[in-house]
Amino acid sequence: MPSEQVLHKNQNTGVTHPDRSNTRASASHAIPQTTILSDILSHLVRFPTISDDGAANLEAMDWVEQQLATLPLHITRLERNGHPNLIATTRKTKNPKVWLAAHMDVVSGSPEAFKPFMQGGQLHGRGTHDMKSAIAIYIALLQKLGQSLKEYDLGLMLTSDEEIGGFDGVKWLLDEHGYRGDIAIIPDSGGSWAMEMSAKGVSWWKVTAAGLSAHAGRVWHGENAIDKIVAFIDNVRTHIIPEPCGTPDHQHNTLNFATITGGASTNQVPDEASAQLDIRFTADTSIDTIKAWMHEAAMAVPGAHAKMLLAEAPYRVKEDERIDDFRRIVREVTGHDVTPVNSHGSSDARHFAVHDIPTINVGPTASGFHVPDEWIDIDDLARFYEVIRQYVEDWAKCTV
Ligand SMILES: [Zn+2]
Ligand SMILES: [Zn+2]
Repeated sequence: MPSEQVLHKNQNTGVTHPDRSNTRASASHAIPQTTILSDILSHLVRFPTISDDGAANLEAMDWVEQQLATLPLHITRLERNGHPNLIATTRKTKNPKVWLAAHMDVVSGSPEAFKPFMQGGQLHGRGTHDMKSAIAIYIALLQKLGQSLKEYDLGLMLTSDEEIGGFDGVKWLLDEHGYRGDIAIIPDSGGSWAMEMSAKGVSWWKVTAAGLSAHAGRVWHGENAIDKIVAFIDNVRTHIIPEPCGTPDHQHNTLNFATITGGASTNQVPDEASAQLDIRFTADTSIDTIKAWMHEAAMAVPGAHAKMLLAEAPYRVKEDERIDDFRRIVREVTGHDVTPVNSHGSSDARHFAVHDIPTINVGPTASGFHVPDEWIDIDDLARFYEVIRQYVEDWAKCTV
């Protein structure tokens, strides 16, 4: 594997680091883009940056900073709850024209998952798809632009907690540190040129019910708390399309009756019970609507009520010329259109959406999102690099 040739073992840490002189040499025009990208991506995969491994994430961020050291960038390192963040901007601003955003953290994997290997044009390893591939592109692009970065208004935002919510990363940086920006490229989708146009919101609820205990032989003397929970949830379900719904994209609100506890023994009417619900909702439904459903159910079932445990807003990417231009570039570079998709999961894009910052969430051919065999197509990764390079030319280059 050619990418192995620029790796050497760091004696102190045992972690494989790049030979930096070779990495610089590989940024020249003579070496094909695929080699540069697979080298950088292989280095990144070797850091076992599972979300709760602060040390591995810190080491990976340090390595990225080293790769950018000679470039005209303002670098800021911020850390919260053991989750390091790295921000690099071409100007002294928190509000660049374009963010190149990505998360360094990955979901867990076996030790083998952190030993990247190339097979049939695919680079395999944890994070090749989700989403160190984007970080590799960003590093390669910033190195390629080199001293000309001064002519751009561009930012790199790397976080390390997306897989566990992004609360110490993108959300914290935007909400508490005031980072903004015109648009964020954040290729954290299912890949294969599917472009995320919306994502559902999430709300978690705890439903509790109080009843009256009685002997099971005289149920008319009691009030069954579990029956109340079921009645409450049946009431909420009147607003939800039941599954199987028959439509393949399921772009509707859903309810998962997740947990239930209650009752002490078989011969007793239970006097208390509680349950948890997970309701996913589209951008056409507001959290206030869901609160209204809960209020309605509580009115219908005396003794039962619901408390909201978590709420994350849905979002929909606003279609404008910046999104159209990205689609045009993909068409020109790859010869095909992006496939618009509506997501059932969530990503850090939602934290940008809260501040009305549109996101571009699309990626090249890849597979194995959160499963053992994760890989990315290296030729397609090079095409994606070219798409992002052209996009940065169009939207981050300063005219004066
Ligand atoms: Zn991801
Ligand atoms: Zn459905």
